[in-house]
Amino acid sequence: MPRILIVEDEEKLARFVELELKHEGYTVDKAFDGRDGLEKMETGGYDLVLLDIMLPGLNGLEVLRRARRTVDTPVIMLTARDSVMDKVTGLDMGAEDYMTKPFEIEELLARIRAALRKTERRAAESKQLACGALIMDVDRHTVSYDGHAVELTQREFDLLRVLLENKGIVLSRSTLMERVWGYDYMGETNIVDVYVRYLRGKIDDAFGVKLVQTVRGVGYVIRE
Ligand code: CA
Repeated sequence: MPRILIVEDEEKLARFVELELKHEGYTVDKAFDGRDGLEKMETGGYDLVLLDIMLPGLNGLEVLRRARRTVDTPVIMLTARDSVMDKVTGLDMGAEDYMTKPFEIEELLARIRAALRKTERRAAESKQLACGALIMDVDRHTVSYDGHAVELTQREFDLLRVLLENKGIVLSRSTLMERVWGYDYMGETNIVDVYVRYLRGKIDDAFGVKLVQTVRGVGYVIRE
């Protein structure tokens, strides 16, 4: 199910929206200020973000501006102000949509579904993922480096796919855990490190490159 991040300092509202979204089957995380929201956006690999504009720390527009340097997660801005300026600025900075508070939850849910459908369509159009000479054909389930086939186990393939889908974005171990192994996996989180080592052996070491990179204290990223 899609994963949604709510960045909203009105905790009551955040909890209400969280409950409604969970009821619809979405997986939900919350951040109550701009800095935490930005950090989660950059490392959480979310499918959608609900971003309030009036936030302590960094305001929502600033969060969006900074997040857009690294992630293109669809964002629905939430604004209490009936300010045309905020909406225009938000949309200019790449927000998918906006909602003025107070809003009807049904309308928010409909906008979320629409935004997610758009993302799905975009994803379906490009089933080839790449990082430099490394190419993954998702439909054919093949991986190659500079034309040479790379044989991967299912788990290695899944891990590489998540990294490639988020190329350039640092993903935390727990995010990779959730995306590749699922929530129910009760094993050690260092399983992620083990599989990253497998991938490096088959890609980086095999071809003398450094694509699968460690970001100390944060997680992993694939980039050229
Ligand atoms: Ca607020």
